[in-house]
Amino acid sequence: MAKRYFIKTFGCQMNVNDSEKMAGLLEGMGYEKAETPEEADVIIVNTCSVRAKPDNKAYSFIGNLKRIKKRKPDTVVAVAGCVPQKEREQILRFSHVDLVFGTFNFMKLPSLLERVKEEGKVVEVLNSKIPEEDRVPLIDSSLENPYVAYVTVQRGCNRFCTYCIVPFTRGRERSVKPELVVEEVKRLAERGVKEVHLLGQNVDFYRYGDTGLAQLLHMVSEVPGIERVRFTTSHPAGFSEEIARAIREIPKVCPYVHLPPQSGSNRILERMNRGYTREEYIEKVKMLKELVPEVALSGDFIVGFPGETEKDFEETLSLVEECVFDQGFVFEYSPRPFTKAATFPDDVPKEVKNRRLTELQELIKRQALEKNRERVGKVEEVLIEGFSPKGTELYGRTPDNKPVAVAGGEELIGKTVKVEIIEASPFFLKGKPIEGTSNGN
Ligand code: SF4
Repeated sequence: MAKRYFIKTFGCQMNVNDSEKMAGLLEGMGYEKAETPEEADVIIVNTCSVRAKPDNKAYSFIGNLKRIKKRKPDTVVAVAGCVPQKEREQILRFSHVDLVFGTFNFMKLPSLLERVKEEGKVVEVLNSKIPEEDRVPLIDSSLENPYVAYVTVQRGCNRFCTYCIVPFTRGRERSVKPELVVEEVKRLAERGVKEVHLLGQNVDFYRYGDTGLAQLLHMVSEVPGIERVRFTTSHPAGFSEEIARAIREIPKVCPYVHLPPQSGSNRILERMNRGYTREEYIEKVKMLKELVPEVALSGDFIVGFPGETEKDFEETLSLVEECVFDQGFVFEYSPRPFTKAATFPDDVPKEVKNRRLTELQELIKRQALEKNRERVGKVEEVLIEGFSPKGTELYGRTPDNKPVAVAGGEELIGKTVKVEIIEASPFFLKGKPIEGTSNGN
């Protein structure tokens, strides 16, 4: 019987993509996917340390694996991702963990597993000073979704926002050679993928020689079989008119931009070291909406950052009123070890953070609902990705990234279908396919 693996992923899409690549490597070694950690011979916990919540959850998940290891001592328990980059000693306190590796060497998983067999416990956490050719090799991912795939085009970050641990866990910014990106996209298209998401910590700053993000979008869009191209995460300091024009001019590039403002107060933006003002942010959104009127805008926000007053928070609300969001991810500030902001007094009381979070979420929800209601009765193109978790309806997305529940059968999965929107809620639409309008691919 083939050996089996189980990967538990915490955190961002970048981690999801790294996990898919690790799964691809394990499948290349003959492993099969296990449905539960209990059934697996190798268990990998891919960790995230950007926020306290996933960090704590990862530690508790790792702790719970002890009983599996006790029952099946041959199971290899591995911890990967951002947490080992900074806190390997804490992980090593778990005696049942066999392998610890970081964000720079997940591609060495096969040889690391060999070493565990020979040496027992193995710890290998590298820093960013590894050779270019070893950094992001072409690895065929095991795809969670056969029609939609992530492609990492840039890793790391040079910006050092005062609250963020990423520059310490993922190192300095580096872009993947465009030819390698195109090759990976071609291989995905050959496997039936229709939509690719180009991922980068600050994807707008993608640059390899003369190739910037706008040129890369053109190159990727030319790959036969690819119908949709998305990119994330944008940074307000890097998002440019050239990129907005690429969205407007390349039909395959989806009109959706995730552009996190984090705050609407200049005082807080400066304390966060974000590198732009509220006026510059609003100006960029105005430029984007002028060039691409159908664009959907989403963003991340931190409430209760050290020193955030009621007036600062009101400025965030007014930025949201002015820009109008389709989606927003609001987080209460929590200090992360090793960051500069962790040295600032965390002086906004928990109940105030809570209230601001709810108020901001409610505002974005109202905006999203209003925009979604305008779509009822309209016809949208939806790429059907599969069945919804309950299994009763199909699930897909519009080009501007709105999730749509669609009534229909299995034969529509993987197809782009024309759907009439019949119901709207803040973050979901419901639709019914228009007979005979699937594009048949
Ligand atoms: S831009 Fe700021 S928030 Fe984003 S990854 Fe870099 S340091 Fe973190």
